[in-house]
Amino acid sequence: MSSSDADRQLEIFFFPFTAYGHMIPIIDMAKLFAARGVKATLLLTPHNASIFSESIDRERLLSGLDINIQILGLPFGEAGLPEGIENIDDIRSPDMLPKHFLAIQSLQQPLEQLLEKHRPDFIVADMFLTFATEAASKYGIPRFVFHGTGFFPQCIEETLVSHKTHEGITSDGEIFVVPDLPDNIKMTRLQLSDHLRGNDAFMTEAWVHVRESEKKSYGILVNSFYELEPAYAMHYKNVLSKRAWSIGPVSLRNRNNMDKAQRGKKTSVDEHFVVNWLDSKEPHSVLYICFGSMYSRLSKAQWHEIALGLEYSETSFIWVIRNIKQEEEESSLPEGFEDRMNANKKGLIIKEWAPQVLILDHPAVGGFMTHCGWNSLLEGVSAGVPMVTWPMSSEQFYNENLITTVLKIGIQVGVEKWNSWIKDLKDVSVKKEKIADVVSRLMGDGEEAKKMRTTAKELSDMAKEAVEEGGSSYENLTALIQEFMMFKKPSTATN
Ligand code: UDP
Repeated sequence: MSSSDADRQLEIFFFPFTAYGHMIPIIDMAKLFAARGVKATLLLTPHNASIFSESIDRERLLSGLDINIQILGLPFGEAGLPEGIENIDDIRSPDMLPKHFLAIQSLQQPLEQLLEKHRPDFIVADMFLTFATEAASKYGIPRFVFHGTGFFPQCIEETLVSHKTHEGITSDGEIFVVPDLPDNIKMTRLQLSDHLRGNDAFMTEAWVHVRESEKKSYGILVNSFYELEPAYAMHYKNVLSKRAWSIGPVSLRNRNNMDKAQRGKKTSVDEHFVVNWLDSKEPHSVLYICFGSMYSRLSKAQWHEIALGLEYSETSFIWVIRNIKQEEEESSLPEGFEDRMNANKKGLIIKEWAPQVLILDHPAVGGFMTHCGWNSLLEGVSAGVPMVTWPMSSEQFYNENLITTVLKIGIQVGVEKWNSWIKDLKDVSVKKEKIADVVSRLMGDGEEAKKMRTTAKELSDMAKEAVEEGGSSYENLTALIQEFMMFKKPSTATN
């Protein structure tokens, strides 16, 4: 590469889907690129920009990164969305989801205007922003896809879509093996998404577009690290023939407490208070419970059962509660539960939004009860904590398999059914006795728990090594940036 190549600054646009589980990692990713000298521009809608602007400004002003935000507006009225609904997190009924997707499609024109004006070298756009490939190609700009999940879940999904194994079985509860994968992964039809089972025409159609636009893209950026899922990283590239670079875990970009605490919504609890609370606990003694960024898909009765299960287990815990209806938060807990937990300092309940990475990284945390969202999985792995798996929807049942069957760093709580929305407020899928049992096993001193702790610690070390100089993700990012430079000005490459 010539010296003029080396001096030239690349500009990359990062365009996330409007959900925290997609925005948070893409923003971390933009920071990672910016830390390597790239000019990183994030495309965000007005409300979402206001949520992330403080942490972006801090990176620019304190760390000197060339990172900024460009605002794209969403047409609320036209899509039949109430004012201010810019985020999947704000959605309160299933019928609003298609409207949200349609509103997002209308961002193509403002995106094209920005591309025309700024002419970035590349654009990294979320898988659901399918129009980005076409918009970018109008200006000769290559598009990268970001799925938000890892190799393992994508390998399972792609295999099921092509082999249709789930269609050839007799009942929803029958166990089948996902074929042609490196491990013996067992699933039931009940654990599969509505769109895969043909029960959600809108999302089935959306996924067809995702695949088509991915095929026309330059490649895929994966928030994972090779050592976590080597067989699936290879399968993805060699069997499924996808061009992919793993550059994560991107959350490890956040090194100090403030960066760890400010990833997403403003936390509803003072982070110093949380750290002090954890400081008063023994190492590995606290279970952290959080079911992701979306409002809870659990029934009021199930919340009640979790509270009782935690109390039975006598384990210290931090529990993030996010209910769709705030009044249900109080009434879904057993009488006097919160007061008892406060009085004996057994449990800390955080309503709305917790500083998750800050909590997971604290030495007092010894376990994570998770809905198995991909970011949570990676954040748990990076922190070296074993997990109790409570999958709900999206690709979370695949991720549960990675945690428990492949990596062997978790125990399944025993949820059997994929469910993207609360159907029955009295529905209890896991009883308090089972919850208490798995929590005690995970947090206890039995051989099973000790083994999981050791493996989790090894994986955490590997995750940290992967993002350091010489590590797999670090070097993938280096190779990618070099490829970008060649792509930008091929003639100078021969100088
Ligand atoms: N998160 C957080 N505080 C919360 C809830 C979630 O910081 O109270 C963050 C979490 O650290 C993760 C993201 O939100 O980075 C959730 O992504 P994930 O893929 O785990 O689940 P999703 O919400 O997309 O289902």
